[in-house]
Amino acid sequence: MENILSLLPEELEALMAQLGEPKYRARQLFEGLHKGLAPDEISNVGKKTVAKLAEVTTYHLPTVRRKLVSAIDGTIKYLFELEDGNCVESVVMHYKHGSTICISSQVGCRMGCKFCASTIGGRVRDLSPAELIGQVIAAQKDISASAPNARIGGIVMMGIGEPLDNFDNVVKFLRLVNAEGGICIGYRHISLSTCGVVDKIYELAKHDLPITLSISLHACDDTTRSSIMPINNKWGVDALLSACKDYFAATGRRISFEYTLIRGKNDSVAAAEQLANVLNSRLRSRTDTMPIHVNLIPVNPVEETGFDRSDDKAVKAFAAALEKKGVRATVRRKLGADINAACGQLRRADQKSQL
Ligand code: SAH
Repeated sequence: MENILSLLPEELEALMAQLGEPKYRARQLFEGLHKGLAPDEISNVGKKTVAKLAEVTTYHLPTVRRKLVSAIDGTIKYLFELEDGNCVESVVMHYKHGSTICISSQVGCRMGCKFCASTIGGRVRDLSPAELIGQVIAAQKDISASAPNARIGGIVMMGIGEPLDNFDNVVKFLRLVNAEGGICIGYRHISLSTCGVVDKIYELAKHDLPITLSISLHACDDTTRSSIMPINNKWGVDALLSACKDYFAATGRRISFEYTLIRGKNDSVAAAEQLANVLNSRLRSRTDTMPIHVNLIPVNPVEETGFDRSDDKAVKAFAAALEKKGVRATVRRKLGADINAACGQLRRADQKSQL
């Protein structure tokens, strides 16, 4: 049976019709479920309806297994436990304009990026639409308990897993989280980060989902990129940038590039100049002013990977070299530095503590 949280409003309506319930019941259910209430906690849904639902659907919301709050900036990191005991991470970050949640898309990951903690044990399984939206609902519920007016207004899919490797469930999640009556977050406030699953970037461009695409580039020459990101052996830099161009043409949404700075690997001024040249020549022309933005992230050292972060001087020099060639660059503000907020680190620590 399917978790009821996976159902879109129109699917709930069809279910209500099938169960002989009025159409408006679907709206009541969707609103209540997406506020974090279980079917039997929704006051305007009667016991009989709840019993009928239990015959054809299940209900489960991720539960908080661990919660860490940064003493520095209030960033909250959740280790959520799923129905089968697997765990994923979500992080809530507070900005001036509101809070954003970073969610996971899979239990583990099979992409094999050499610097990343999430991929060390491989992929265990995909998250269902209910588990994807469940992270947002459960975090909002937890935050609301102490701050009733605090609202998560943005989502980044940058947690554990490769979202485009779980394509159908992620697309359904995007529609669920955007649907009226529920969490209702606009597509423009959602970004999806990918290591470069090129065929799925083309597919995403065909859906009417104007989200921001974030490309984990990390190197712009095939030799360096393939040495840290195995996906590059399947689709090289050129194929990836062609897909980016297509995505921009189809959606008009700017694309941002993530660039993790690893000491001695990809952090020289020459590498920055090459990056700017490649982005400018492949993505821009005299008639096309595609906005390009590069997010620089000094690598978070992960014990098993052996990579070191670039020092501040190298980071500044890299950013300056990009700007000089007309490529906007920002250095990612490090939130939650005291709570291991980087990708996959808490799940990994939790797994290790059980060994
Ligand atoms: N699979 C997707 C989303 C998850 S990773 C992707 O590859 O984009 C989210 C971002 O964190 C990616 O840019 C990823 O390359 C980066 N990342 C992973 N491990 C990191 C580490 N140890 N230090 C810095 N960035 C890291």
